[in-house]
Formats: sequence, C-alpha cells, structure tokens
Amino acid sequence: MRYEAPSTTKEAVNLLAKAKGAAYVLAGGTDLLVRMKSDLIEPDLIVDIKRIKGMCEIKKTESGFTIGACVSAAQMGEHSGLKKAWPGVVEAANLIGSDQIQGRCTVVGNLCNASPAADSVPAMIAAGAKVVIAGPNGKRTVSIDKVVTGPGKTSLKKGEVVEAITLAKPEPKTGDAYLRFIPRTEMDIAVCSAGVSMTLGAKGVVKKACVVLGAVGPTAVIVPAAAKAIIGTKLDDAALAKLTAACEKACAPIDDKRGTIEFRTEVAGVLARRAAKIAYDRAGGK
Ligand SMILES: Cc1cc2nc3c(=O)[nH]c(=O)nc-3n(C[C@H](O)[C@H](O)[C@H](O)COP(=O)(O)OP(=O)(O)OC[C@H]3O[C@@H](n4cnc5c(N)ncnc54)[C@H](O)[C@@H]3O)c2cc1C
Repeated sequence: MRYEAPSTTKEAVNLLAKAKGAAYVLAGGTDLLVRMKSDLIEPDLIVDIKRIKGMCEIKKTESGFTIGACVSAAQMGEHSGLKKAWPGVVEAANLIGSDQIQGRCTVVGNLCNASPAADSVPAMIAAGAKVVIAGPNGKRTVSIDKVVTGPGKTSLKKGEVVEAITLAKPEPKTGDAYLRFIPRTEMDIAVCSAGVSMTLGAKGVVKKACVVLGAVGPTAVIVPAAAKAIIGTKLDDAALAKLTAACEKACAPIDDKRGTIEFRTEVAGVLARRAAKIAYDRAGGK
C-alpha cells in the first residue's frame, strides 16, 4: 500500500486520478482505518489531505463559513462564530463518537463515508450546506444532498476530493437543531435522527423551513411536506402534528435489532417535532 501526503489539492487530485486499484482519501481516518483494520477494504493508495493548506481551517467571510475538509468536529465546537450561526450543525458534529474521535473526525468524512446514520448529514442538509469538490476537470460546487447516493455510495467521481463545506451566513431570525435517538447515552450510531432549520418572518411566523431525517432510508430524507406543514404558522400544535405525520409518512427504515420499522418511524416523527421546537426557539420564536 502506498501512502502519500501531498501539499496541494492539485497533487491530491492527480494522485487519485492516476491511481490504479483502490484509492482512498484520508481525513480523520475514524472510518477508513476501522474499515482497513476490519479487512473490509484493502487500499492500494491512501492520499492523506491534512497537509494541504486551508484544509484544516474554518474561514468566516461576509457571506458565511468555509469549513475545510480536515477540520475536526472538535474544532467546529470550539468556533464560537460557527456555533452561534449554525448551532444545529455544530451539535450534530459534536455528537460523533467520543472525545478522541472528536479530535480527528470530520464532517466531510462523515458525509463521504455515506452511512445512512451519519449524524452531521441531516443537520448540514437542513442548513443548506454546499460542498466544494476538486477534480481532474476543475472545481464544482454542489448542494450537500447530492453527494450521498446510497449506503456507502457517493456521486464523487474518480480523482475527486471534497475540499470544503460551505454554510451561508444565516438570514436574521434563523435557527437550526439536530436530535438523534441512540439506545445508550453516547458512543452509538443513530437509530433515527432529525435535523431542522427555519427562518421566521414577522410576528414569529415561520417563513422558510427544511426538515431532514436520518437513518430511516438509504440516504438522509428531506421531507418537503413537513416543511410545508409549518410554513405560515407559529409552530402551534396543529402544525406540529402535521409535521410529525409528514415525517412518519416519509420514513422507509430497515428493521433490525437496533430498531423496528414501527419504532424508527414513530421516534423519527417525535425527534423532528422536538427539533423543530428547538429551532423555532433559537430563531427567536415565542
Ligand atoms: C468509536 C467510533 C464512534 C463513532 N461514532 C459515530 C457517531 O456517533 N456518529 C457518526 O455519524 N459517526 C460515528 N463514527 C464514524 C466516524 O467517526 C464518522 O463518520 C467521521 O465523521 C468520519 O470522519 P473522518 O474524517 O474520520 O473520515 P475518514 O475515515 O478519514 O474517511 C471516511 C470516508 O470518507 C472519504 N473521505 C474523507 N474525506 C474525504 C474528502 N475530503 N474527499 C473525498 N472523500 C473523503 C474517505 O476516503 C473514506 O472513505 C464513529 C466511529 C468510531 C470509530
């Protein structure tokens, strides 16, 4: 196995594009190394991208935030500006693993690993995050929900590397939140989860919303009907009941020892409702 640690994205792209056999990008390694040690994969080439300038930085600009692909979840939690702007995204990232995992794991790795239960993904989709991808034909920016195509599968093409995630500066009166259910208090994978973001208009009326469920389908599930149910309302009980019903309807989970279809479906609705209430409070709704 060949290990390379290039100092530019261009070099990383060239290495991956020309690679023969199985080539992998290495960010925090908290998925990749576990899969290697479990003999699930046998890479011929590993391209460690942590030495590339800017990859380990969070940049705040006029228009929002650029989170480099190697920024750890812990770094995100320590960034007061990011936490204030997108608390739901940060709380989702900070739920990944333990302190040790937090120091290494990245939300880009969480995304590219393409687990349906990935914690940061529903929250980032709800927040409208975008992904900057570098490849042999230059750079492209895509909406984050276009990256994962199925369990363990992404739309990334040979030679492509995710350079960063971007999050827009939130509009005034915007709030987001993420909740998951796990059978124990920490260090477990979501049985189901929900990320919600919303923006309020005058008098606390919801103007815009996005509701996304995790671990109830092959990829994160965006539920437009749940957003529609709360837009134009002050998140009263009737609106929340409609949101819950829409989420339950959108669920198509697996049935396994960690949760039955019925359990995941019901709990996903409950989590979405609770996350919506938190997001509403954070947006300044009363
Ligand atoms: C003990 C433990 C607990 C965990 N708990 C949780 C949890 O609670 N919630 C959760 O969601 N996950 C959990 N995980 C899984 C893992 O920690 C996360 O998915 C993590 O975010 C992966 O990030 P990473 O940087 O370590 O990815 P890596 O392992 O470096 O990479 C993961 C995959 O993404 C690809 N990749 C990484 N970066 C890029 C890039 N820039 N461009 C293209 N492809 C890329 C890699 O090639 C690899 O296939 C846990 C793992 C462990 C070992």
